[in-house]
Amino acid sequence: MIQRHLTRKVQVGPLQMGGQAPIVIQSMNNTDTRDVEATLAQIRQLNEAGCDLTRLAVPDQQAAEAFRAIRARSPLPIVADIHFDYRLALAAIEAGADKIRINPGNIGGPDRLRQVVSLAKSRRIPIRIGVNAGSLSQTVIDRHGGVCAAALVDSALESAALLASWDFHDVVLSIKASEPVLNLEACRLLADQTDIPLHIGVTEAGTLREGVVRSAVGIGALLAEGIGDTLRVSLTADPVEEVRTAWSILRALDLRQRGPRLISCPTCGRTEVDLTRIAAEVEERLQEFSQPIRVAVMGCVVNGPGEARQADIGLAGGKGSFMLFRDGRILRKVPEADAVEELIREIRILLAERDHG
Ligand code: SF4
Repeated sequence: MIQRHLTRKVQVGPLQMGGQAPIVIQSMNNTDTRDVEATLAQIRQLNEAGCDLTRLAVPDQQAAEAFRAIRARSPLPIVADIHFDYRLALAAIEAGADKIRINPGNIGGPDRLRQVVSLAKSRRIPIRIGVNAGSLSQTVIDRHGGVCAAALVDSALESAALLASWDFHDVVLSIKASEPVLNLEACRLLADQTDIPLHIGVTEAGTLREGVVRSAVGIGALLAEGIGDTLRVSLTADPVEEVRTAWSILRALDLRQRGPRLISCPTCGRTEVDLTRIAAEVEERLQEFSQPIRVAVMGCVVNGPGEARQADIGLAGGKGSFMLFRDGRILRKVPEADAVEELIREIRILLAERDHG
C-alpha cells in the first residue's frame, strides 16, 4: 500500500482534491473553446473515458463567453486556463469556472493578481498556480543560478505565500518540467515543504508512444512515493488517450480502479495462436466496460492457465484454439476465430451477475 502525503483539502466543484480523496484525473480539451458544440462533444468523450476534470484554454473574451455556455451543459467540472490577461481570469470566474489555472508570473503584476484572487475567494473557487520550467522569472533564475529544482520550488512557494498573505488558501500547486528527472526532483522537494495539494504531470511529454512512457515514469515515480493529488498526462494526441493512460498508471499502482485490467503474455516460440492480434482486439473491446475486472490473454499452456486462472476471466492458447477460464475454472474450449467474442460474452455475463448479486 502506498502511503500518500497528507495534504490539505481543496474543493473543485463537486470534487475533493487533496486530503485522502481519490487522485483526480484531469485532461485538457484541444478543441477551440469558442466552438461550444465541438468542445462539449469532446468533454463528453473525456467523461466516458473516466476523466474527472477538464481544462479549457481561455485565450480571449469570446472564449470566456463560450465558457459560460459550455460550463452550463458540461458533465464535468471545468478549469479555466489563463495566461497574460487578468481580465480573462475574471471573466472565466464569472462564467462559472470551477477552478482557474494561472501562472502568477505572467498575469500582470500583484495588483491585477489580487483582483483575480479576490473574485476567486468570493466565488469560493480554487486557483492552481502552475510553474513551468520554461517560464520562470529572471529573478528566480538568477537567485538559483539557473533553472533547477530549487528554483521551481521557490517560484511555486513564493506565489502561494503571496496568496496566503491575502488570506487565500484554496490553492493547488504544479511544477512541470519536460525532463522527468528534474520534474521528479522538484516535486519531491515541493512535497517536503508544503501541505498544499499537488497537481503532477510531465509537461510536453511528447507523441503517443514516447509521451506515455515519459508520463508513466515521471508521474508513476511520484505516485509511488505518495506524491500527487491530481494528475494530467500530456500527450500530443487525442486527450481521451491522456485519460486512458492516467487510468493505466493509477491501476498499475493500485491507487484507483476502473475498468478492466488486461494481462497478456509477450508471446514466444510456443505460441500457436495469433495472440498479438487477439490481445489488441481484446484491449479495444474492453474499453466498453468501466467496472474493474481482471482479464488474462495468454499464448500457451506454460503460464497461460496459471495467469488465466488468477484472472476473473481468461484465455489460454493451444493449437488454433483457446481454453476459456472463469474464476479459476475451465469453462470450455473455443476456436481461435471465436475467442474474442466468447471472452467478451463471458465478461458481460460475469459483470451482470455482479450487478445483481
Ligand atoms: S505464456 Fe506461453 S506463449 Fe506466452 S510467453 Fe509464456 S510460454 Fe510463451
